[in-house]
Amino acid sequence: MAAPCRIAGCKTAVHVELETHELCLSHFTLQVERACNDMRVEASRGAATGERREEILRYIGQQGGLLARIATNTPRLPDEQKARILSTFLTLMNLRESLDRAAARQPHLPSSNSSPAST
Ligand SMILES: [Zn+2]
Repeated sequence: MAAPCRIAGCKTAVHVELETHELCLSHFTLQVERACNDMRVEASRGAATGERREEILRYIGQQGGLLARIATNTPRLPDEQKARILSTFLTLMNLRESLDRAAARQPHLPSSNSSPAST
């Protein structure tokens, strides 16, 4: 818990796992949810294919992993923050689903459970 969140006016301490983002948990989840919404729109337009699709899948995995670490490594996380993490997980899962639905509409793309090689 070093520097405060970089969002102006927010004095919340930044979680160790989020130090590279310089964001508190609330602002981090907000940012992820916004990004997910944009990507979902992109996917529904059929614009998220090929490399872009891989990029989004990677993003989902990275943010999901980060949130999971915060959720499981932080003793006594306030209920409100637990709820934020869960709702962001749901947003990530919905984005994953949108990507798959978009791929299913395009017969030349694999619509299976083809997830990128996990690292
Ligand atoms: Zn903040």
